[in-house]
Amino acid sequence: MTRFSLEGRTAVVTGGSRGIGRAIALGLAEAGADIVFTYRENHIEAEAVGSLILDRGRRALALQMDVTDRTSVDAAAVAAQAFGKVTILVNNAGINKPTDFDKVTDEDWDTILATNLKGPFVCAQVFLPIIGANGGGSVVHIGSVSGQYGGPRTAHYAASKAGLISLAQVIARFGASHNVRSNVVAAGLIASDMGNAGLQAASVQKAAEGIILKRLGRTDEVADAVVFLASDASSYITAQTINVNGGLYF
Ligand code: NDP
Repeated sequence: MTRFSLEGRTAVVTGGSRGIGRAIALGLAEAGADIVFTYRENHIEAEAVGSLILDRGRRALALQMDVTDRTSVDAAAVAAQAFGKVTILVNNAGINKPTDFDKVTDEDWDTILATNLKGPFVCAQVFLPIIGANGGGSVVHIGSVSGQYGGPRTAHYAASKAGLISLAQVIARFGASHNVRSNVVAAGLIASDMGNAGLQAASVQKAAEGIILKRLGRTDEVADAVVFLASDASSYITAQTINVNGGLYF
């Protein structure tokens, strides 16, 4: 068994019903982990992901959970613990609403910060002691290039993702004594529902021209970095941000 293997591990992936989260759930399953993944509303897509995990010979549990609601996260944690010994958390669930800075409403600000920054905080606070009690493991947060270079038309989103980098560093400091590592995968322009919505903005199209690899990323390319950070192959990596952006930002 290589140090990249996740055999015998149980991972929790928030927002695993589609897009990048779906690819992460499948990637972790291919590396050997059993998967608990959450969705907010779309249970039909979630069921499809569950079947694909089973096809890969791993166990799967789909849970409805809202990362902005601690009661919901607590309930998911109880179900996840009954399913397996959780040692991996992927804070993936996130939303965006590209809007010019002067048009961002207080409501949009609060909604996006609640999902993209408070959500990962609550999930990490709930799951870190569980991971620690299971011998330690890895928390991976899905960040964005927007949080590194002031993403255009996304004041709230960019601020949430910048905050996520700091949150991940704090969790790395706190988690070390529990044998828990914490890192960010900062994705660039990725072809997914969210990526495609963002691409309608002319400013984002211009940014795409500046990608060294001259193409959008695929969801599985983000997942590969997550699998690495979840595995023992990254055992000396914590408090870091790994960019998966084709050279868009460095
Ligand atoms: P999608 O919109 O395709 O999927 C979002 C997922 O999050 C869905 O599973 C959704 O569930 C879930 N979700 C949304 N809100 C909540 C909530 N409040 N509680 C629990 N789950 C929720 O997004 P992507 O796959 O594109 O993005 C995934 C992550 O990657 C996000 O953190 C995003 O910021 C980040 N990212 C994406 C980039 C891109 O270009 N796509 C670039 C950089 C970063 P449901 O289906 O039920 O609504």
